[in-house]
Amino acid sequence: NLTDRLEGVFKKLRGHGILTEENIEEAMREVRMALLDADVNFKVAKDFVASIAEKAVGREVSKSLSPGQQVIKIVHQELVDLLGGDTQQIRLDGRQPVTIMMAGLQGSGKTTTSGKLARMLKEKGRKPYLVPADVYRPAAIEQLQVLGERIGVPVHPSSTDMNPVDICRMAMDAAAVQGCDTLIIDTAGRLHVDEHLMDELKEIRKAIHLSEILFVADSMTGQDAVTVADTFNQALEISGVILTKMEGDARGGAALSIKKVTGKPIKFVGIGEGLDALEIFHPDRVASRILGMGDVLTLIEKAEAVVDKKQADELAKKLQKNQFTLEDFLDQIQQIKKMGSLEQILSMVPGINKLKQLKDAPKPDERELAKTEAIIRSMTLKERRNHKIINPSRRQRIANGSGTDVADVNRVLKSYSSMLKMMEKMRGKPGAFSGQKRRK
Ligand code: GDP
Ligand code: MG
Repeated sequence: NLTDRLEGVFKKLRGHGILTEENIEEAMREVRMALLDADVNFKVAKDFVASIAEKAVGREVSKSLSPGQQVIKIVHQELVDLLGGDTQQIRLDGRQPVTIMMAGLQGSGKTTTSGKLARMLKEKGRKPYLVPADVYRPAAIEQLQVLGERIGVPVHPSSTDMNPVDICRMAMDAAAVQGCDTLIIDTAGRLHVDEHLMDELKEIRKAIHLSEILFVADSMTGQDAVTVADTFNQALEISGVILTKMEGDARGGAALSIKKVTGKPIKFVGIGEGLDALEIFHPDRVASRILGMGDVLTLIEKAEAVVDKKQADELAKKLQKNQFTLEDFLDQIQQIKKMGSLEQILSMVPGINKLKQLKDAPKPDERELAKTEAIIRSMTLKERRNHKIINPSRRQRIANGSGTDVADVNRVLKSYSSMLKMMEKMRGKPGAFSGQKRRK
């Protein structure tokens, strides 16, 4: 997991407060590995890492984030930008009818995706018309006819003795007659790119106006897909990309590489064989996937939003000086209510980052929190500032005062103590808290 690895790299950094060239370099090695793991093209990964390093060096580490989180945030943002930033939809306004041609290798998912897209557009209120222009295999025409029937979209009556260019020309008229406004042209593919295939597609492009040429790529083919995408783009000037088979284990590296190499937006992703398994491409989701982080980023964002810098600083100072009292514990409980479990709060204090814990930590039990709060409030100020004086009779009094029992009081004191112990351990390590930087 990249997050864990980066946390490891940045353990050394704590106490410095800014990202230096040296530790960035080490972190970037990890990022590069993660990219390669996700099947990102080697050169793309290399360039990417270089540009990130430039951006990260010298940045001050935000107090609510650990350096590891900080770098992940930069990397993620950069990935999102590279993947195209916002979602990109196909253009449906402008010249009518809209004509969309699917291009790509055999088996990439052109026919299936034609059906999926027709279904999606129909739901949006368009009137799609499916055009089978793969005349080399009878089964291909039939496949599209079956799909069309299932989604209730008319399919142009093509046959294997017709020429794809003629089919497209005739389909334009036929669509108009049927009142359809969006043609989706399914074309033939080869196992490899060849001249004949490209020529045929170029002929279609010359013969009719095309609103979109969408290159359909099987994301499972990783590196190969990148080369093929480049070739199709050079020959046809594609207008966008659809990545199929993105469900399951596909890590999305192909998305980054294809976008980088062609410069064309990824518009949709196929996530299954079913006709509803087509989604608009979301750069941020895929970026998270490439980094193998799932919802860690959401948590990072949450952490930034909730724990404000000043509070985190103050807490860090107290932890250093061994001044974390039950009163601070009470403060933390207020935070917990806003945010999550004790581990989550702790993990957001710079220097005590354990994202794994943060992710797995159970949601706090509101009633337990309220109880804890009541117990601490029933303590005297003296008790709150020095828990060691809380003897059995004081415990009984506190329990009575808070409407709990001694076992509850003991539990609160125990979790407070274990927190102290944990901090003791952290304090043993030099530079364990980034707040140190600010000590004058
Ligand atoms: P074409 O040769 O480019 O027209 O490819 P097809 O549309 O015939 O698809 C080839 C195979 O890939 C079929 O078995 C499809 O069901 C499958 N397929 C297409 N898109 C997806 C997808 O997003 N996920 C999965 N799992 N399979 C897909
Ligand atoms: Mg096909």
